[in-house]
Amino acid sequence: MLILGIETSCDETSAAIVSDRREILSNVLLTQLDQHIVCGGVVPEVAARSHLDQLDSVIRHALKEADITLDKIDAVAATGGPGLIGGVIVGVTTAKTIALAKNIPFIAVNHLAGHALTARLTHDIVFPYLLLLVSGGHCQLMIVQSPLDYDILGETMDDAAGEAFDKTAKLLGVPYPGGPQIEKLAKQGDPLKFQFPRPLFHKKEPEFSCSFSFSGLKTAVRQTIEKLGDLTEKTRADCAASFQYAVGEILANRTLNAMKKCQERNINLTHFVVAGGVAANEYLRQLLEKTAMSQNMKFVAPPLNLCTDNAAMIAWGGIEKMRLNQIDSLSFVPRPRWPLSELERISK
Ligand code: ATP
Ligand code: MG
Ligand code: FE
Repeated sequence: MLILGIETSCDETSAAIVSDRREILSNVLLTQLDQHIVCGGVVPEVAARSHLDQLDSVIRHALKEADITLDKIDAVAATGGPGLIGGVIVGVTTAKTIALAKNIPFIAVNHLAGHALTARLTHDIVFPYLLLLVSGGHCQLMIVQSPLDYDILGETMDDAAGEAFDKTAKLLGVPYPGGPQIEKLAKQGDPLKFQFPRPLFHKKEPEFSCSFSFSGLKTAVRQTIEKLGDLTEKTRADCAASFQYAVGEILANRTLNAMKKCQERNINLTHFVVAGGVAANEYLRQLLEKTAMSQNMKFVAPPLNLCTDNAAMIAWGGIEKMRLNQIDSLSFVPRPRWPLSELERISK
């Protein structure tokens, strides 16, 4: 079975062909970075228009690279949300049109489920598994029970992890998107130069043990920069390294708490998976791998290009839903907000 996946929820126009035998035949990605960089962030209207202009040719590219025609496609999956609604509408409408024209199933894939399930496309992992989802809009620890069932153990109370990277980058004068740039800058810096806070660490109540907070961290970086005045290349690198070090400690500590919580509840999980754009950070991957090893868990992280937004993860999410007979109706309405806790099962 071959499935066409479409991702248009943010600033990447992407189309992919993936088989149910876990082969990625193509995964074409067109970034709108040059259109948004002037504003230092994604402009929703500009993004939607660009998806509309580019999606047809990106799909054509994906088919060509896979060396197939639309007639060979068995189903089409698109991100149904959450995301910038204009872009999601473009992707969903295109997918529905193809489904109708070719008389094949249409599947609306939750973008976060796409991130959460990618590890099953690239690795042999069975349910349930522990997942840390760290992306531009989310920071959550959960037990993935099935493609439709996610037990959230804790999440961020303010900013997402990727957002913290992007905002810190802005403060340091690094262009959008900040994550990869901060990682690069941090390599030349001293992670112990500045003591940035670890918000929520002082709260001992169990309900906070798997929660995250990054806004205090960002404020501390801002205050440090203001105090320093003119930043030298060295202090910028030190700031980036100290920030990344603090994020690492926060992620590792909360993950460890989640692992212990599962053990206390006698939930026996063998795999710990990290997913989402921030999971492309090599430093954080290594740190989280150590955390997993300390609890005798196997660590899995998708390859870097499958951590950030891409259509292969949406195609795969579609395959996972199809295996459960969860095919969506053409009257599916795109959802700008669509938490994982609200995935409903379509009864057949
Ligand atoms: P969501 O998936 O929550 O809807 P999104 O789709 O915008 O949000 P992703 O594409 O999954 O987010 O991830 C993008 C985020 O990942 C950005 O905030 C970016 O800065 C961050 N990021 C990407 N690469 C790295 C890296 N190497 N280190 C740290 N952060 C990174
Ligand atoms: Mg993006
Ligand atoms: Fe994403």
